[in-house]
Amino acid sequence: MIEIKECIMCNEKISIINCHYTCPNCGFSENCHDKPHLIDDIKDKVK
Ligand SMILES: [Zn+2]
Repeated sequence: MIEIKECIMCNEKISIINCHYTCPNCGFSENCHDKPHLIDDIKDKVK
């Protein structure tokens, strides 16, 4: 599952793959399993 969103740090377009992304611009990475409020439009929840 891949979604395109904007980096919460620098607003760069980033690809979320399997609920995780690493920003190519600022290097920030996030995982929705850790911070579900940051990536809130992924419907496929995996625990
Ligand atoms: Zn960024």
